[in-house]
Amino acid sequence: TAPVSPTDCLFCRIVAGEIPATVVRETGTTLAFRDIDPKAPVHVLVIPKEHYADVATLAQDDPGLTAEVLATAAAVAEDEGLLGDGFRLMFNTGAYGGQEVFHVHAHLLGGAPLGPMLA
Ligand code: 5GP
Ligand code: ZN
Repeated sequence: TAPVSPTDCLFCRIVAGEIPATVVRETGTTLAFRDIDPKAPVHVLVIPKEHYADVATLAQDDPGLTAEVLATAAAVAEDEGLLGDGFRLMFNTGAYGGQEVFHVHAHLLGGAPLGPMLA
């Protein structure tokens, strides 16, 4: 993966502290912060600090880091009280997936019934 300058990527800039975000969990390799335009009562984005464009690239290049992103998402789900009622964890990927920010991020959504996935 080509190196990406933090100035070129919104979420790299959040990792660098150049753009403020409401961080709910941080590990050595991952960061979780609240979505600026929440689509559910709980809407948290979970990212690797290292830049990967999308989940396919991340999973192919670094399966261990992929697992760390999922583990951070699970820990946030527990912190937010979502484990009992359930939640949605999704990666929008590429044009058809509706991805708008090309630094891989898991959307953690919960706190209310979310309905059918594409509604
Ligand atoms: P995508 O469509 O790429 O899967 O989702 C990008 C998400 O990033 C959207 O849900 C959008 O609300 C969120 N977002 C965009 N800009 C910012 C920002 O500056 N800060 C935060 N916290 N979230 C952002
Ligand atoms: Zn980035």
